[in-house]
Order: sequence, then C-alpha cells, then structure tokens
Amino acid sequence: MFRVDYFDGSWQNPSIIPYGPIEISPSLSALHYGQSIFEGMKAFKNQDGAPQLFRPIDNIKRLNISAIRMGMPQIPEELFLDGLNQLVSLDRDWIPTKAGSALYLRPFMFATDDFVGVRPSINYSFIIFCCPVNSYYPQPIKVRVEKKYVRASTGMAGFAKAAGNYGISMLPTSEAKKDGYDQIIWTDGKNHNFVEESGTTNLFFVMNDKLVLTPKLDGNILDGITRDSCIKLLKAEGYEVEERNISIDEVIESAKSGSLTDVFGTGTAAIIAKIAAIGLDGIDYELPNPEKRKVSNWLYKTIYDIQTGKAKDTFNWVKVIS
Ligand SMILES: *Cc1c(COP(=O)(O)O)cnc(C)c1O
Repeated sequence: MFRVDYFDGSWQNPSIIPYGPIEISPSLSALHYGQSIFEGMKAFKNQDGAPQLFRPIDNIKRLNISAIRMGMPQIPEELFLDGLNQLVSLDRDWIPTKAGSALYLRPFMFATDDFVGVRPSINYSFIIFCCPVNSYYPQPIKVRVEKKYVRASTGMAGFAKAAGNYGISMLPTSEAKKDGYDQIIWTDGKNHNFVEESGTTNLFFVMNDKLVLTPKLDGNILDGITRDSCIKLLKAEGYEVEERNISIDEVIESAKSGSLTDVFGTGTAAIIAKIAAIGLDGIDYELPNPEKRKVSNWLYKTIYDIQTGKAKDTFNWVKVIS
C-alpha cells in the first residue's frame, strides 16, 4: 500500500509498504468525529498487458472536493497520482484479466490527532491499498423508494465521499432488505418528492429508449465518474440526455404507461446495476426484462471495452501505466 502522512502543515514521507494493520490511538479523531473520506477506482490490463487506469484525475479531484467539505487538507494531485502509478506498477501481477475482473484501488484519508476535543485534526494519513476483485455481474436489483430516512439535504455533505454518509445508510438499507428489497432510492430531504441516488450508484431513467434522465448535481448526490462517462457517451451516440429534478410521480407514471424502458444505477464497482423493479408505498412496479435493455447493455459494454483497451478511447479517459 501507498502511505503518506500530513504533519507540520505538509504531506511528508511518501512510501510504499506491505499491506497490513496500522497502529492507532483510541483517541484517533477520525473515529470520534468522522473526518474520513475515500475514493474507489480500478486498474485493468489493456490488450498489450500493460496496466491502465480509468479517469484517475477525476478521482483525485473528487477526493480533494471531499477534503475541503470535511475541513481536511487537500493532497497535491501529483503526489496522489505518483503514489497511484508506482503502486499499480509494482502490483501489476495482481491485476486479474478474467472478463469483468479488475484490481480495485481504495484511496482514503483520515484524521489522526490523538486529542479528544472537537476541532479539525492537525494530522492526517492518506493510504491507497488494492485488492483484486472478481467479475461482478450483479443480478438486476429491486429497489424501494425511501420516504422515511434522508441521506443528504441542502447544505450537508451529500456530494462528498465521506465515511459518515455511508454510516447513516446502513440502517435504512437493512430495513429495506428485511422487506425484500436489495437497495433504496434516496429522495430529497424536504418532501421526499424527487429521486436522488441509490446505494453507491447514480440513477438513470430511460424513456422509450430515446430520452435519458438523470438527477442533476444538486450538492446532495455524488458526482459519479461513471455517471459523467455515461452522459458523455450517450450524447455522443445521439441520445437526448437531461440532467434535472426527476419526481417520483414521473417515474411511477412512466413505469405504469410502459414508456420507462430502462432504469439503472452507475458506479465504479458494477459500472451498470440494472433495476428490475421499483417499490413505492408497498406496491412494486416491474420494469422491462433486464436482458433486453438496450441502453444499459450498450453502456456496460462500451465503458468496459474502453477500460480494457478493446474500444477506442475517444475521450482520452485512459491512463496507461509504464
Ligand atoms: C462512489 C459513489 C457513486 C459512484 O461514483 P463513481 O465515480 O461512478 O464510482 C455514486 N453515489 C455514491 C453515493 C457513491 O459513493
């Protein structure tokens, strides 16, 4: 793993060390006050067998956006990228090549003061570790529209990949699971009228295989790199894409009328997670056969082929590691 520590006002002593336990103080401030942020990305082997990353600069920029919101120091882009490159280069033999598999990379930063008062920590650690992940073709999932709990609302930190945002999602998700759902769809914190995102994925709704809707970046949802890639690829392919508020009513009405042809979540782990049914107030609305979904099938293949160097990287997203 790559590790660099922040003390005396700067990042110091970057090094690559064996993966293993780290010693922490019981008063470690990250554990008490939640200054803890992370990223998730993947390394692949291209058709020549060289390791490559998908849009790593976007992960680095997003980590720094999370850092600002959580009152943590930013990490210089070159320091992050350098650590990433050296780690992946060193660990290249761990990148699996089976279809759908990858080397998952987990960069994260946390506060390390051993001090019990509530204040921004003065010391931090930044670590990147990696682990091979198997091909991940999730079954189409059943989601429930969440109308009791809220993930984020105006002025909160919904746009940050901050640990606390995931802590608060555990109970609501468990409750949905008890009722037979795989995930929840978060809705706006004011009136629960608009859809936001689902689990660790951004949401897309396709009307008549033509018009693609996705919630706009309102500060409450993650600015997903897969989301952005999907929008750009869809537009280049001639689809109409709208980033805007999407009401639950609009989703349910279009599901009932049959104009809702595809619904899916997007994220690094699965790329595309197809949604088979949406539950609202005890009624499940079944969506069209997941195997025949035109848009989600096309997006999965297109993105995966770019990531593994099979398709032309027209947007210059891929960074090959020497
Ligand atoms: C990480 C994450 C996403 C997806 O982001 P990607 O950059 O596409 O992996 C979406 N929503 C939440 C809440 C997330 O944590």
